[in-house]
Amino acid sequence: MLENKKIIITGIANKFSIANGIAKSMSKNGAELAFLYQNERLLKRIKPIAEELGVATLVECDVSSDDSIDEAFSEIKTKWGKVDGLVHSIGFAPTDQLEGDFTEVTTREGFKIAHDISSYSFTALAKAALPILSENAALLTLTYLGSIQSLPNYNVMGLAKASLEANTRFLAASLGKKGVRVNAISAGPIKTLAASGVKNFRSMLTEYADRAPLGRTVTTEEVGNVAAFLCSDLASGITGEITYVDAGFNTSAMSSIPKNN
Ligand code: NAP
Repeated sequence: MLENKKIIITGIANKFSIANGIAKSMSKNGAELAFLYQNERLLKRIKPIAEELGVATLVECDVSSDDSIDEAFSEIKTKWGKVDGLVHSIGFAPTDQLEGDFTEVTTREGFKIAHDISSYSFTALAKAALPILSENAALLTLTYLGSIQSLPNYNVMGLAKASLEANTRFLAASLGKKGVRVNAISAGPIKTLAASGVKNFRSMLTEYADRAPLGRTVTTEEVGNVAAFLCSDLASGITGEITYVDAGFNTSAMSSIPKNN
């Protein structure tokens, strides 16, 4: 599905990362991959993952810095010339923003950081990649249902994900004439490093499996397979879309009628 495609993947923190599930599926489907990692500390953790998948291009890129983004893409340009896809799998808000009552805990600084790292960075990476994007390139980001429905503790990340989804549609409109597609996957909750920053995440998983039509949560591999499809030419007619990979949770208002009724 992805033979002869060169795809950049961001956001692998460890083997549990959604981006790792995406990398595994894309590699299995024939893509050549490059990994962007935030800093030296991360390099040690992603090296074994890169070795396992035969990924030789590892480039440092902290998305909070325009200089870091510029340096990363000039390195990719030198190594690869053209790029056929980019996966943005990055999200961050300070921990104190992800615990407690939304009105009480949300601060201007927390709001700014969450939106900068979790949403603006997608635009920033798209801008940096544009000069080397091939004609049928595909960009992809990862979002969550908290963008359209409130839930405890997710707080300002919900606002940042709403921004990211709008970002997906505006980038799709902006880049469509060049043949570039831009999509998002809204993934169900998965136990990863970023997710463990959200208070009571474990209880969320149980509640989730109870209500989802498939009666379970999803895996990073399942998200990875849809990511591979969306970045392939099989999805050539799809852009600006939010695709749910959540065992159907977003389609179900209630799992069963309470027993005493
Ligand atoms: P993860 O493994 O912790 O990945 C998050 C990644 O973002 C990490 O690699 C992290 O690097 C990176 N990152 C944060 N700040 C960065 C920066 N300034 N520059 C570059 N990279 C930075 O968690 P994940 O759950 O797979 O998250 C991936 C994406 O999926 C996020 O957008 C998340 O919101 C979304 N998502 C997750 C779930 C879920 O339940 N897990 C559900 C739906 C959507 P560091 O480790 O160095 O901070």
